[in-house]
Amino acid sequence: MKKHVVILGAGFGGLELSTHLSALADDLHITLIDQSDSFIFGFSKLDILFGKQKTDDVRAYYRDIHKDGVEFRQEHVTAIDPARKRVTTDRNTYEADILAIALGADYDPAATPGFVQGGYEYYSVAGAERLRDTLATFAGGSILIAILSVPFKCPPAPYEGAFLLHDYLVDRGLRATSSIHVISPMESPIPVSPDTSEAIVRGLAERDIEYTPRRRIRSIDPAHQTARLKDDELPYDLFIGIPAHRVPDVVEASGLTKGGTDGWIAVDRRTLATPFEGVYALGDVADAPVPRAGTFAEAAARTVAEGIMARLRDDGSPKPYDGAGVCFIEFGGGLVGKVDADFLSGSSPKAPFVPPSAEGAKDKERYAASRRARWFS
Ligand SMILES: Cc1cc2nc3c(=O)[nH]c(=O)nc-3n(C[C@H](O)[C@H](O)[C@H](O)COP(=O)(O)OP(=O)(O)OC[C@H]3O[C@@H](n4cnc5c(N)ncnc54)[C@H](O)[C@@H]3O)c2cc1C
Repeated sequence: MKKHVVILGAGFGGLELSTHLSALADDLHITLIDQSDSFIFGFSKLDILFGKQKTDDVRAYYRDIHKDGVEFRQEHVTAIDPARKRVTTDRNTYEADILAIALGADYDPAATPGFVQGGYEYYSVAGAERLRDTLATFAGGSILIAILSVPFKCPPAPYEGAFLLHDYLVDRGLRATSSIHVISPMESPIPVSPDTSEAIVRGLAERDIEYTPRRRIRSIDPAHQTARLKDDELPYDLFIGIPAHRVPDVVEASGLTKGGTDGWIAVDRRTLATPFEGVYALGDVADAPVPRAGTFAEAAARTVAEGIMARLRDDGSPKPYDGAGVCFIEFGGGLVGKVDADFLSGSSPKAPFVPPSAEGAKDKERYAASRRARWFS
């Protein structure tokens, strides 16, 4: 009898996991469930925002997944019973032998009063499209880019947004009449990598982008176009926020977040197993000691795949999760740098920085193309 693996979420984590498990198609039947019909890389939202790519051009359709043992279902997950490994969707009920939850992080814009009414974001496709259309008629003024809470996806992305916004305003002849100010509650852009933080802070200064660390915007007042900090107010013409993140509702309702930090799914950091037998959580939804980023979701998928293989072979010692991955950083002008992070395999995290270059941009393209080929061929 084949074991039934049910993977919830076909983002970075779910796609990578289903690809690895497909090699075990003789032993496994894999059901991969996602509410969407297609995958979009997080970084493609920057391309949508600045009009470099159309949304339809950056979609990879799940109907193009043809992998042994893998069946994709476009359904919305409405309930998860981790004790029984039972999943309910808007169309079906699934009984799993092994359940992997890779549902990512949802956004909670309402957590910042005023943001829904008067703020913009580029962390969702709809948000990137809306901001793109607003920028098209922007006539210059003060722009605030604020990280509204931690953790959030892809720690470099707010700074990438600022660099690319600078280029965009230069191209439109609006930079001289505009200011850009990035505000973050964190002490530095990438705390694990001082070299990367230094390069980002220097890059901001070189472009006359103001940067304020260790401050958090608590609310915005769209009527008066002011952002409120604990003891201060800042005026703005355009407010761009990195929204607060949270687990999807269906995960919160499942009881899986018990014991996890700030409402994320508690996992064993070596195996990504949850306290429920045969249930794993990986990627942004899991409370693993790594940043929220696709590259780490992908590494987590390899660990979960090895854990599942070890279960099948009754070999109890898969390699522990290394929390390693490469993060690319757009610096504008077609130059891309990267951080080669390894959070968990050594005695302390390491994250050397590779400075921005045109070769880095090609490297990023190759990275995306290899994932598309691996997941969708
Ligand atoms: C602007 C931006 C730039 C980024 N740049 C990078 C980068 O350069 N490098 C990098 O590594 N990461 C980057 N990221 C982060 C990266 O996109 C995420 O960290 C990554 O996608 C997380 O993978 P995941 O598998 O955990 O979740 P996701 O990829 O978010 O996948 C979760 C899936 O679950 C599905 N889902 C959710 N709820 C349900 C439900 N109830 N029913 C059915 N399906 C559901 C969703 O449709 C989604 O497809 C960026 C993100 C943004 C926003």
